[in-house]
Amino acid sequence: MDALFPTYARWDITVESAEGAIIIDNTGKKYLDFVSGIAVCNLGHRHPAVVSAVQEQLEKYWHVSNLFKSDIQQEVAQQLVLNSDLDAVFFCNSGAEANEAALKLARKYTQKSKVITFKQSFHGRTFGTMAATGQEKIHSGFGPLLHEFVYLPYNDCDALEREMDDTVAAVMVEVVQGEGGVIPGTKEFLGKIEELCLQYGSLFIIDEVQTGIGRTGKAFAYQQYNLSPDIITLAKGLGSGLPVGAMLGKEKLKEAFGPGTHGSTFGGNPISMAAAKATLSIIFNKEFLADVVKKGDYLQSELTKAFIDQDFVTEVRGSGLIMGIACQNEVAGSITVLRENGLLTLPAGANVIRLLPPLTITYEEINEAVQIIKNTLVAEYSN
Ligand SMILES: *Cc1c(COP(=O)(O)O)cnc(C)c1O
Repeated sequence: MDALFPTYARWDITVESAEGAIIIDNTGKKYLDFVSGIAVCNLGHRHPAVVSAVQEQLEKYWHVSNLFKSDIQQEVAQQLVLNSDLDAVFFCNSGAEANEAALKLARKYTQKSKVITFKQSFHGRTFGTMAATGQEKIHSGFGPLLHEFVYLPYNDCDALEREMDDTVAAVMVEVVQGEGGVIPGTKEFLGKIEELCLQYGSLFIIDEVQTGIGRTGKAFAYQQYNLSPDIITLAKGLGSGLPVGAMLGKEKLKEAFGPGTHGSTFGGNPISMAAAKATLSIIFNKEFLADVVKKGDYLQSELTKAFIDQDFVTEVRGSGLIMGIACQNEVAGSITVLRENGLLTLPAGANVIRLLPPLTITYEEINEAVQIIKNTLVAEYSN
């Protein structure tokens, strides 16, 4: 009966339809979606601009390969380049592939091999990105891993200073560790990475797969700091649910990725590009992004107020609309009860409830979510 590999511990929900921040299952039960397909549906489900862009492209053609010139790839690349400090884009299909491209490019450009990443990081499931991920549970059973990956403690400038030398091809880092517990990087730490990369001729790679595309209230999270990475990687929110990833790099890196060096059959697929173009036209907009900051601040302050007298919540932290509720105990049970109570959330590490609402969430929906979280956790912890 079950013909799928059991790689996911799936929820007992079969979706019937989804619109905005609401998912309805096949029994008619309604859920408020604070997961957004894991930071993917940043405009909510079935945003009309994305629906019509995809429909329009379907009427033209939907796959011809990268042997042809592509205006729509150029247009999306322009949107990405104009809204970042980077100059060139490589399109692929996922976050892991974007990070693979970054790691391959770093080795080819620098002609060095060592890669520094951080504990509790998450960069993907392929051999390269699994090796880049600083979590033993992700590596378990798949060894030997790719060589020359080193994991350092996050936000630790001294450890980085000790490890950096001129054999390092790249340092890869998340500005906010998503899967690892919604842990924001400090300005000092991220600045130190950039400084040491410059000093040793290493590439500074920022994994924006989860934090990019408006999630933190900037087009890309690194723009909250005064940083100038050599490479950033994107996926999740880029296509509003159509599969697409991208690696953005500085001009100087173009020479190392000439014809025949790297590629992807589906990369930059026109349907995904149409979705990305529509998504970015809405999100890369000053007022839209300012609104994300306001809503994020509101969510954080309402959650802080809700738990001010409760010591089972130790911290509410995040950036824009990626928010973590750090709890004293493990959160897996609470997340199940939240779901039964109509709110979809995720864990981040063992003790953090992660909230990733659509960026189009309304204040009413935020209030409703905070109420459900408060009632659920208070009931849970009073048992
Ligand atoms: C989800 C994620 C990835 C992996 O993306 P896939 O599309 O699942 O390959 C990589 N890095 C970060 C930070 C992520 O959150």
